Amino acid sequence: MNLLIMGPPGAGKGTQAEVLVKELDITHISTGDMFRNAIKEGTEMGKKAKEYMDQGQLVPDEVVVGMVKDRLSQPDCQKGFLLDGFPRTVDQAKALDETLKDLGIKIDGVINIDVPREKLMARLTGRRVCRNCGASYHVIFNPPADPDKCNSCGGEIYQRSDDNEETVGNRLDVYVAQTQPLIDYYGKQNLVKNINGDQEIKKVLADILEAVK
Ligand code: ADP
Ligand code: AMP
Repeated sequence: MNLLIMGPPGAGKGTQAEVLVKELDITHISTGDMFRNAIKEGTEMGKKAKEYMDQGQLVPDEVVVGMVKDRLSQPDCQKGFLLDGFPRTVDQAKALDETLKDLGIKIDGVINIDVPREKLMARLTGRRVCRNCGASYHVIFNPPADPDKCNSCGGEIYQRSDDNEETVGNRLDVYVAQTQPLIDYYGKQNLVKNINGDQEIKKVLADILEAVK
């Protein structure tokens, strides 16, 4: 099964993706995680991406599209994948269509997690992430058992540098202007599964599994 998971920053995409890929035995591809890994490794692409990420702006399409193309042609994507954080612009969606056509595969569904904007700021400023595996926590809504250690891999917990009020504000505006139109794009292809993300994490997961089965 090949799925996209969409929704504004803070909707719960990463949180749900972590469990969904295990349940469905598919590969998780998060472009945000790929950029954060590139930054950690100090690559040229990481350095370039960081300038945009720190401002809450999108990394240019040509950088992201090339990276995703390479990733999708790797063998572990053949069993199915969950794309998280990509596409984010109509041009990225068109490039994805082309890539999938070349690979002879198609998207089976687009999970669209909906959360009221006024709830997103608190989710993002309280988010904490594992530096090792990328697992997402929240200081109040989903704290790790030990505040400094990841529940699943024991990695160090940190706060993303773009999870501050000013950058979050930009990211939410960028989402509305550039990414939200994609819901229409995929709606016209009858692929969108709308999910209420303003519920307990477990209930959101159950609703997604019901929608994609
Ligand atoms: P995204 O990947 O969409 O940006 P995350 O999955 O990282 O979002 O979630 C953003 C923040 O909200 C995290 O701190 C996460 O723990 C928290 N969160 C995720 N889902 C829920 C939920 N259903 N209710 C409350 N908080 C949630
Ligand atoms: P995320 O982890 O999905 O919240 O992404 C963090 C940041 O990485 C975004 O604010 C962007 O700067 C960048 N990014 C991630 N995915 C994309 C994408 N598909 N297109 C452009 N920029 C992206």
